[in-house]
Amino acid sequence: MARRPLIAANWKMHKTQQEAKTFVASFLPKIAAVRDRDVLICPPAPLIFAVDQARKDSPILLGAQNMYFEEKGAFTGEVSPGMLKDLHCEFVILGHSERRWVFGETDELINKKVQAAIKAGLIPILCVGEKLEEREKNLTEQVILNQMDLGVKGVADTVIGTMVIAYEPVWAIGTGRNASAKDAHDAIALIREFIHSRYGSSSAEKIRILYGGSVKPENMATYMKEEGIDGGLVGGASLDPESFAKLVTY
Ligand code: PEP
Repeated sequence: MARRPLIAANWKMHKTQQEAKTFVASFLPKIAAVRDRDVLICPPAPLIFAVDQARKDSPILLGAQNMYFEEKGAFTGEVSPGMLKDLHCEFVILGHSERRWVFGETDELINKKVQAAIKAGLIPILCVGEKLEEREKNLTEQVILNQMDLGVKGVADTVIGTMVIAYEPVWAIGTGRNASAKDAHDAIALIREFIHSRYGSSSAEKIRILYGGSVKPENMATYMKEEGIDGGLVGGASLDPESFAKLVTY
């Protein structure tokens, strides 16, 4: 069965409520004819409600960029899986490189979040990818496999196929220096092989694996032509409705 492409916007820490509403109003007509792929917007937490209101009766999917693994308690500044569900989120990005390298998140913490998201009925988008110095030391495969191994620990074989993985080499994020289609293909093939060996062929065939890192309207089609690349996780180029619509209609 062919996997349905997923094009996901990660707005990071950008936009006001009004800007988010204006974006959705301008973006929706541009993707009105799109039926055969999923389109997801992950706004900053304070804008989730506004995007949910603006997307009403549209095919846009809604996600968060992060969450904590506990359901409630004394965790000042954090957002729980249940709160995201209550705001109608369907997805949550976990282990983004900015969470790992700016906020010091470990694989162990990310795994707790993955398990909590699944328990709450959210679909985790688990981000993995090597840093430049790791690539230069030929450690790319080892880093990806290690992040996968620790990231999906304890995830049942009945649900792994519904998860999303994003291969995002750290050196390609927000730098304008995108990975070659071959490098993205090879990393994604490695991730799928990991899922195959750990969970079997039907999970490996089902799980969607995205590429992220300086994806632009000009290079999206090149990635989508590669066997095994099921879509994109897009930062900078998802902030403008024109640009994100072009990405969705690659
Ligand atoms: C991202 O935020 O996940 C990302 C890939 O950013 P950019 O597209 O700006 O490189």
